[in-house]
Amino acid sequence: MRPPSVDALARSLADLDLPHPLAVQAARDAIASGDPASARPRAVLLERRMLQRVVNATGVLLHTNLGRAPLDPAWLGASAGASNLELDLESGLRGSRSSHVAALMARACGAEAALVVNNGAAAVLVVLAALARGGTVAVSRGELVEIGGGFRIPEVLEASGAVLSEVGTTNRTRLADYRGALDRGAGMLLKVHQSNYRTVGFTESVGVSELSQLGAPLVVDAGSGLLDATTPWLPGAPPAWLAGEPAVRQTLAAGADLVTFSGDKLLGGPQAGFVVGRKELVDACARHPLARALRPGGLVLAVLQPVLLAYLRKDGRSIPFWRMATTPAEDLLRRAESLGVGTPVRCSAVAGGGSLPGLELASAGVALAGDWRAPLRRRRRPVIARVEQGRTVADLRSVDPSEDQEVAAALADVGQAHGRGASACSS
Ligand SMILES: *Cc1c(COP(=O)(O)O)cnc(C)c1O
Repeated sequence: MRPPSVDALARSLADLDLPHPLAVQAARDAIASGDPASARPRAVLLERRMLQRVVNATGVLLHTNLGRAPLDPAWLGASAGASNLELDLESGLRGSRSSHVAALMARACGAEAALVVNNGAAAVLVVLAALARGGTVAVSRGELVEIGGGFRIPEVLEASGAVLSEVGTTNRTRLADYRGALDRGAGMLLKVHQSNYRTVGFTESVGVSELSQLGAPLVVDAGSGLLDATTPWLPGAPPAWLAGEPAVRQTLAAGADLVTFSGDKLLGGPQAGFVVGRKELVDACARHPLARALRPGGLVLAVLQPVLLAYLRKDGRSIPFWRMATTPAEDLLRRAESLGVGTPVRCSAVAGGGSLPGLELASAGVALAGDWRAPLRRRRRPVIARVEQGRTVADLRSVDPSEDQEVAAALADVGQAHGRGASACSS
């Protein structure tokens, strides 16, 4: 029998809603492999490899594989159509694309000025390139960290053209160590948040206010972007799990000249990076050619604006990350019970995104005996769950309540499809 023509096979996939060239690719690959019937699964695979909305039931609020901070759909509407991205509506002249959002950020964290770039790594890179300018930068050996995705402080320093002067030891660094580096010619101090790891035991490090006494420009890479340790955007006192996380406003007040951080960690916004602090230093970063190369698109700036307005309104409820992070575990348990599938269980969620390592948030979700992650992932709206102690847990701390029914349907389906029903297992 002759194999079907590529064209006929591609047309048989029309119901899949793939653009014709991709259907043709699946058909051609299937025929070339000698198995024309594989065209459909190949086409489905092409579809599944595209970006799509998923339900994050992992309990990791800032899951790097799932796009870190969840965005509010309402924020995305603001980015449609034309905008005054680089037009000053008063004068009719060309404006600066980042001035709108930068001014809001400066206000929200109490900085003289702010600069927005593509991500946190870019913020560190542009600061080092613009301010160290090939000179020597002192960093504690305890802070020469690697963040997820291969962001390594020594390598970023090298890429910027600066020279690293390692000070102190892995577990203990003292003020005298930094002073020694300055005596040997270092022109700048960089303090890096350890982010995804902790040194415990016999440790010592130097605080921002002490470092600022040394007189050299002090840059703090705070990483996660907690804007203010007093969390004025939340009702009541700051959550206990935030204790120990450095905050931007307090780091500036303690004497840092510049602070860098991400937009999509504890800030709860889209991928972006910020440089905030003394105006003449921020301006020097903004003038560097790298700032132009690393600038964010209008789409990102349009989404950052409602995030920052929410902070200025002290309205943490409208930021999905803070809403999810502060929902009482009892509310989550009640939601789990009302799903009517599997076993409601108490469990532990985490902030994720390299912030607050080792710190667990009391949480609740629904458990099914066995590992059902793969069928849950393969649904039209994939549900990403985790497995612990031989059961699949859909943790509701990272699920928006509007997605609860999606989770319930997914768990009911996998339970049924595998002939076990939603199996009970004790918590
Ligand atoms: C996460 C992090 C970065 C990198 O930020 P991205 O936005 O992921 O590029 C840099 N420094 C620290 C301390 C971090 O925690």
